[in-house]
Amino acid sequence: MNPILRVGQGYDIHRLQAGRRLVLAGVEIPFEKGLLGHSDADVVIHALIDALLGAAGLGDIGEHFPDTDPAYKDIDSAKLLEETLGKVRAVGFKPANVDTTIIAEQPKLSPYKKAMRENLARLIGLESQAVSIKAKTNEGIGDTGAARAIACQALVSLTTND
Ligand code: MG
Repeated sequence: MNPILRVGQGYDIHRLQAGRRLVLAGVEIPFEKGLLGHSDADVVIHALIDALLGAAGLGDIGEHFPDTDPAYKDIDSAKLLEETLGKVRAVGFKPANVDTTIIAEQPKLSPYKKAMRENLARLIGLESQAVSIKAKTNEGIGDTGAARAIACQALVSLTTND
């Protein structure tokens, strides 16, 4: 079979709340607030999971990992990513590259971009050159701009399994 290229996009947003851990791309980031959610609320991994599922034609994160299921309470999103990669492989695809944009007014993420990139590459099984983490503020606009939430957009390309 000729190689096939698939692309998928994903988006996620979670509220920031005091007393929660802030975990982005599987990296714990020191901050007085964290993201609120049923799982660890890692918006980067959640956006990436939706991008992977979209590219593979497999639906969305809510269908695979419902937030009403106690099995996913406070779960490490890296485990959900691992399961998702298995589902993608099962239908004949593997990731070729990943590009993400994190939208966060606070905290400043530039000191953590390298660690997030390397961790995401490790979790996906790609070279870090094939994984991109970009971070920007929302210029003070809206809830994200008021540091009440952090959002992430992800794009992924898939090629056929070897
Ligand atoms: Mg989410």
